[in-house]
Amino acid sequence: MKGGQVREEPAVDAVVVGAGLAGLAAARGLEAAGASVLVVEANGRVGGRTMTRRIGGVSVEMGGQWVGPGQRRINALAEDLGVEIFPTEVPGRTVFHERGRRSEYEEGGDPPFADPGAASEVQEAFEALSRLAAEVPAETPWTAEKAWDGQTLETWKLGQTRGAGARFYFDLAVESLYACEPRDVSLLGVLADVASSGGFGGLFEIEASAEEHRFVGGAQELSERMARGLEGRVVLGSPVRRILQNDAGVLVESDVVSVRAGAVVVSVPPALRGRIEYEPALPAVHDGLSQRMPMGAVIKCHAVYDAPFWRASGLNGRAESDTGPCKITCDNSTPGDDAGVLTGFILGSDARRWGQSPAAERKRAVLECFARFFGREALHPRGYAECDWGAEPYARGGYAGVPAPGFFLDHGPALQEPVGRIHWAGTETATRWNGYMDGAVESGHRAARGVLSALSAGAGYHPRTDSDGRDLSRGRPRVGATGTGG
Ligand SMILES: Cc1cc2nc3c(=O)[nH]c(=O)nc-3n(C[C@H](O)[C@H](O)[C@H](O)COP(=O)(O)OP(=O)(O)OC[C@H]3O[C@@H](n4cnc5c(N)ncnc54)[C@H](O)[C@@H]3O)c2cc1C
Repeated sequence: MKGGQVREEPAVDAVVVGAGLAGLAAARGLEAAGASVLVVEANGRVGGRTMTRRIGGVSVEMGGQWVGPGQRRINALAEDLGVEIFPTEVPGRTVFHERGRRSEYEEGGDPPFADPGAASEVQEAFEALSRLAAEVPAETPWTAEKAWDGQTLETWKLGQTRGAGARFYFDLAVESLYACEPRDVSLLGVLADVASSGGFGGLFEIEASAEEHRFVGGAQELSERMARGLEGRVVLGSPVRRILQNDAGVLVESDVVSVRAGAVVVSVPPALRGRIEYEPALPAVHDGLSQRMPMGAVIKCHAVYDAPFWRASGLNGRAESDTGPCKITCDNSTPGDDAGVLTGFILGSDARRWGQSPAAERKRAVLECFARFFGREALHPRGYAECDWGAEPYARGGYAGVPAPGFFLDHGPALQEPVGRIHWAGTETATRWNGYMDGAVESGHRAARGVLSALSAGAGYHPRTDSDGRDLSRGRPRVGATGTGG
């Protein structure tokens, strides 16, 4: 904890912990409905898992960046804030790298696997997954077939596929979509996502439908604009350490401010919920939830060149490979800008391993990887940047929390369930596009509605005074007392 004086802020209707998309969307919704809010953010910036940086003279996205037309909440928010979108499509062939052999294939075609049967095998596996997903209620996946939460996606995959080619490509789809290995994730978690994303044919189809556009100025711009609208009500650089609640209200204690309120919205990922101290302690099922949804692992790497040189060879900048560190790449250049940007993802197990290497060694390996896919020009970028999200103290991974086997059946219902005056937001709590920016916005709106209905039911901050007018609730709220909100 920082030294120095903690400032006591005037009481508000609601405190929001975290100034990512979810927290800021919640704060904005609360304020629009007339509630007073204070947002308390650990980092010295807003945006959370969206972060836009300037490298080699261009803007690059270190975190979330793509949106699809079916993601109506994030699109509506962008429109409301005046942030425009642009298409990301780059025509050309994709590089395919398997067992040391480099080949290329046309958009819409099958990857040229060494084993010719692999394409149909992997397609059958995706279709089988889709059929199972059709039986999962997207909003209440814990009511689905119990056995699906009792196995990993890996065990399911081993039963569905035989060939090494199909298994490599299946793994690549999972890594690229979840930033984890199939062994890390509950089969039911994946089925719930397929169900909630509109029943697409497979994992890469979800990815394709969620990656059609980017934001002009970068995804972080959305949070910056929301924060500007909340000027004076966002405290940065102030990690929340403790949340106390009783029948008078909540007390939120952070490094810079402490503030009392009728309710609090905690918008941090579930894995980080458990790092805040609660008085009284959270019910076991809520704490258990935060123990069973570890973050994915991703290092996002950008190399900036004077021009997108790969396009001259008819390539679209996309590579799919069984050899890392970056097994997936894309052309992330901005239309109208001369510079070319290649973005590579180090994912899952690779991210955990490469995260421990010295930065210079990792950069060299990433550029050599780009050169293997696109030629030796890739070795000499004018700018390079990467973000290891596992090393970010207030994210500790990405893209999002991953449900481990056994998560959903016992803990799923607690994802959104308030605990007294504590309400939960964050993309992991969304029922649609969970794990995406769209899900973050959905969750913020839902949490704001929950707080407003609790406040209107009388769960506001109630200072209690004695006969001399002294505020009895200004001390530490009574340990063991429970809140009445929610
Ligand atoms: C590399 C990467 C690529 C991605 N790509 C995409 C993509 O292309 N499209 C897409 O839709 N999504 C993508 N995502 C996911 C997307 O970025 C997230 O789903 C979304 O930004 C989550 O928003 P959130 O508000 O729920 O959480 P966060 O953004 O994590 O916000 C939580 C906030 O709480 C703060 N916080 C944490 N602990 C404390 C504390 N104790 N006290 C106070 N504040 C605290 C954090 O600093 C953070 O600002 C990607 C993510 C990553 C990491």
